[in-house]
Amino acid sequence: MMLTEASKNMENISNVTVLDPTENCPAAQAGANQIVGNFRDKNSILKLSKESDVITYEIESGDSEVLKSIEGAVEINPSPDTLKIIQDKYLQKMFLKENEIPVAQFSIINSKSDFETKINDFGLPVLLKTRRDAYDGRGNYKITNSSEINNAFDYFDDKKTYLEKFVDFKMEVSVIAARSTNGEITTYPVVENIHEQNILRTTIAPARIEQDIQKNAERIAVKTMEVLKGAGVFGIEMFVTKTDEILINEIAPRVHNSGHHTLNSSVTSQFEQHLRAIMGMSLGSTKLVRPTVMYNILGSKNFTGEYKPIKFTQDNVFLKMYGKKTSKPLRKLGHVNIVAQDSETVEDLIKKLDYMKNEFEILPKN
Ligand code: AMP
Repeated sequence: MMLTEASKNMENISNVTVLDPTENCPAAQAGANQIVGNFRDKNSILKLSKESDVITYEIESGDSEVLKSIEGAVEINPSPDTLKIIQDKYLQKMFLKENEIPVAQFSIINSKSDFETKINDFGLPVLLKTRRDAYDGRGNYKITNSSEINNAFDYFDDKKTYLEKFVDFKMEVSVIAARSTNGEITTYPVVENIHEQNILRTTIAPARIEQDIQKNAERIAVKTMEVLKGAGVFGIEMFVTKTDEILINEIAPRVHNSGHHTLNSSVTSQFEQHLRAIMGMSLGSTKLVRPTVMYNILGSKNFTGEYKPIKFTQDNVFLKMYGKKTSKPLRKLGHVNIVAQDSETVEDLIKKLDYMKNEFEILPKN
């Protein structure tokens, strides 16, 4: 939706076609032509390729082999090769490690006894993670004490998994980075992310960390973009450890939820930046003009169905609903950006958010 909206201000994009399984999806509501189909359906992807000069994506579960088969006939950014590395969290971690980019200790598991040996080596707590199709914490099993080892091993059935040391972090941060098809790289200032039940709830821009840690996170993001060579915007999620080390948790090869604040806080939104990057244009300024707090509007836990429209107006508060018809537990339905005015700090914005939070609760329509 937000990429389609950003495309409207770009002279070199005449048309957007979106592939999405839900009829009248958010992008279609913003004016994109829609092919209704699954992201992994070969015929739908072929149809999309026939209608397009450039293909991009904002979900990483597309079929990288199908995309690879049409590469050449149509330009695809980020490339299917980049997508392939990122889609498999284990390959992604290997790739980062091989390029000397810091990550938490991790290992592949070959058997149950291997699993037990490695847990012993790592020390508890650890996370068992599925390699593919895992996001928003789905696909993670935390093992805190040894009585959980058996259950954890059986939990993911025959899904491919790997083991990762649990990081006792002091903060989760991310850097939205962009690399254009001609190699130019930019990064947005580091933001702080607060998760609830493994789902991003609040982003604080800029992050409340010392400047040298920010610089280090940005340096690591630039290095990642240099080795990854993908074109487009990438969301790079990181942990700041208690000893101020930066470790990459994971990379998203797409515009990222923790970059939604840029719609109202920055000179160039991440959506415009992504389009610039994949179209080979010069990249825009990533300057954060005003501190901003972004809050995700999520489906309530105990309810699935149509929901009461959210309405809220206040100066410097920007509500964005995505036009999804039905709510599901913890489904991302919209977000709100609270932007600083005058000398307001992020602490002031967090206080403001606390006052208005209940306005963004999702309730049944009837
Ligand atoms: P993921 O889906 O793997 O990005 O994980 C979702 C959330 O789980 C992260 O944002 C962290 O809060 C937490 N998490 C993931 N990996 C680790 C780890 N190695 N150590 C501590 N927390 C983690």
